[in-house]
Amino acid sequence: MDLQEIVKNRCNKEIKDCSNKELYFALLEMTKGLAKAKESEQGKKKLYYISAEFLIGKLLSNNLINLGIYDDVKTLLAENGKNLSEIEEAEPEPSLGNGGLGRLAACFLDSIATLGLHGDGVGLNYHYGLFKQVFVNNLQHETPNPWMEKESWLTKTDVVYPISFGGFTLNSRMYDIDVTGYDNRTTKLHLFDVETVDESIVSNDNISFDKEDIAKNLTLFLYPDDSDEKGRMLRVYQQYFMVSSGARLILDEAVKRGSNLHDLFDYAVIQINDTHPTMVIPELIRLLMERGILIDEAIEIVTKTCAYTNHTILAEALEKWPVYYLEKAVPQLMPIIYELNSRVMNKYKDKSVYIIDDEKRVHMAHIDIHYGFSVNGVAYLHTEILKNAELHNFYQIYPEKFNNKTNGITFRRWLLHCNPELAALIEELIGAGFKKDAMELEKLASYTKDEAVLNRLLGVKADCKLELKNYLKRTQGIDIDENSIFDIQIKRLHEYKRQQMNALYVIMKYFEIKEGKKPQTPITVLFGAKAAPAYIIAKDIIHLILCLQQLINNDPEVSPYLKVVMVENYNVTLAEKLIPAADIHEQISLASKEASGTSNMKFMLNGAVALGTMDGANVEIADLVGKENIYIFGESSDQIIEHYAKADYVSKKFYEEDETIKRAVDFIVSDELLAIGQRENLERLYNELLNKDWFMTLLDLKSYKAEKEQALKDYEDRKAWAEKMLVNISKAGFFSSDRTIAQYNEDIWKL
Ligand SMILES: *Cc1c(COP(=O)(O)O)cnc(C)c1O
Repeated sequence: MDLQEIVKNRCNKEIKDCSNKELYFALLEMTKGLAKAKESEQGKKKLYYISAEFLIGKLLSNNLINLGIYDDVKTLLAENGKNLSEIEEAEPEPSLGNGGLGRLAACFLDSIATLGLHGDGVGLNYHYGLFKQVFVNNLQHETPNPWMEKESWLTKTDVVYPISFGGFTLNSRMYDIDVTGYDNRTTKLHLFDVETVDESIVSNDNISFDKEDIAKNLTLFLYPDDSDEKGRMLRVYQQYFMVSSGARLILDEAVKRGSNLHDLFDYAVIQINDTHPTMVIPELIRLLMERGILIDEAIEIVTKTCAYTNHTILAEALEKWPVYYLEKAVPQLMPIIYELNSRVMNKYKDKSVYIIDDEKRVHMAHIDIHYGFSVNGVAYLHTEILKNAELHNFYQIYPEKFNNKTNGITFRRWLLHCNPELAALIEELIGAGFKKDAMELEKLASYTKDEAVLNRLLGVKADCKLELKNYLKRTQGIDIDENSIFDIQIKRLHEYKRQQMNALYVIMKYFEIKEGKKPQTPITVLFGAKAAPAYIIAKDIIHLILCLQQLINNDPEVSPYLKVVMVENYNVTLAEKLIPAADIHEQISLASKEASGTSNMKFMLNGAVALGTMDGANVEIADLVGKENIYIFGESSDQIIEHYAKADYVSKKFYEEDETIKRAVDFIVSDELLAIGQRENLERLYNELLNKDWFMTLLDLKSYKAEKEQALKDYEDRKAWAEKMLVNISKAGFFSSDRTIAQYNEDIWKL
């Protein structure tokens, strides 16, 4: 260990005399050196995982774990009176993603390196990650979230490409972040950036900036607000910049490894993460033609090289760019896109599979499906819905392209790092094999009747809850009761995820307590969620939750039994604190709408029990743990799809027919809440629920309430509950991203 030496050179001090920030920078330098020693370019064929988002989170601890030196470093620091967890707090979180999709990409990079596969990530170097959320007057405000310091995980390379847009050219420089495999090779996350970005054009107290000055703003923010045309245009510029840079890198590296480009698909495979990187397909065709390959062959080569992952069936998320956007930003691509479209039109009569529609919009997913060799969904149910409904017409043309790859999470971050106490207990019981082979967690099944083990498991949970309590007190000034039931819903704020349903439950519970019906064990309902800055109703839901928090937590009659907490600025760092402490986790999306979910897997691995609908990967979780170990409620995905087809859901009916529902909904605009909150926001939300409720909150509210009461009741039998916890952990092995990545490699990449 040369940390002492590095510290000496950098600060001319001993470890014991350094600040946490100085030690963080010293550890950063040391880790980068150790990671570099494990770099390898071994393998003829290489994977490029292209994604507009990589929600990597803090990297120090994970890298130390993956390099196998976490314990040594921790001990050395402790001997010098320093605490590694406190040093970790000096690290800024790179929030280079919005939520699940970006976090998935980060988990995948970890597993690619851990399995020793030849593959790198390709993305953009946003100077500000997702906005920092602050609450002012119970409303969400967005402020800039810088993460790049004078030293960071980024390493500047001398790879530079000129990227041309309609009317101007920008230089793209590649920066690398090391991706350390767990006891394996180091791979790279390549992030492209323009050197002319100007951080000073952002105002300090919000996130507005000049959206038209592309040279100054291209990589300023994680893709910006798409509520106006300038924001949408900026996304197109970002996407092309990313894929053109990536495509040049891919071709250069393939040639270096011996490809003559006619055989590119033997040297490279590109995984397109959602539609954001779709332009890599026409761009590669264009670049191959520039290098002398004729169009027919160029199309064939690219089709054999690219694979597409679909992440959602929400119509608004499937990108369709107007032709005139692309004509303006990337005119060089349009002849190719027209050609790709006319080949489709010549072959198929069905207009729904065309690339360009009658309204002159380019359907990005359609490019991916026609001109890639693989289309995958991200959970069993999601892939079935793609095949049978959303993309049925494509499935009929290309049944062989469709496949499922159920999402996963890296157990290094979501167990070893975030819950070392649980990891140590597991290791003591079944040995260390689960760290490399997650399916070994099944061995825990033999302890489900072992009272001593169950008690220790409850002890670990209690410690995690106390740790969360202390953390929230210290960082956010929030007070919670560590002996209460922690019921947690953390995820992006979206109507389909139905945080509003959870809020209505809280209102119902508030009434019950007021009327003397007190829960046996107090309940703490924790939320964490950012709303897209232009998503009005989502922000209204945050407002409602914050108003309930103020009302309930200050009510001496209710607060001993019920507390509501919305943590500020939910991000990866907070997820790592919240998840180990959960008793119950809420996965209550409207069935058919959540493609997979991955927080459900993180919670399960940490011994929390799900309350959820049969949606996304909840279906597979329920299959694995059995119905005694999960709380399922609500209508099925088939029923929901039928409601949409028949347009027969009327929220007002549910409101009028059930007095408790009516009372809860009415409370949103009660005098009590209006005294705390903003009339405009609360009335808008009330009207939305009553007159529209597109994601059918009231449909499942009754069965949700009943199932939650059952879970709370079952919690009282601590031993039976601990058994549920243990079963959940023992069955979590399937959701390791190592399994997911092994399947991608076996079925798609073939490295
Ligand atoms: C895992 C994760 C998500 C995804 O959560 P879902 O509940 O699956 O939507 C979002 N944000 C962060 C910070 C995460 O760690």
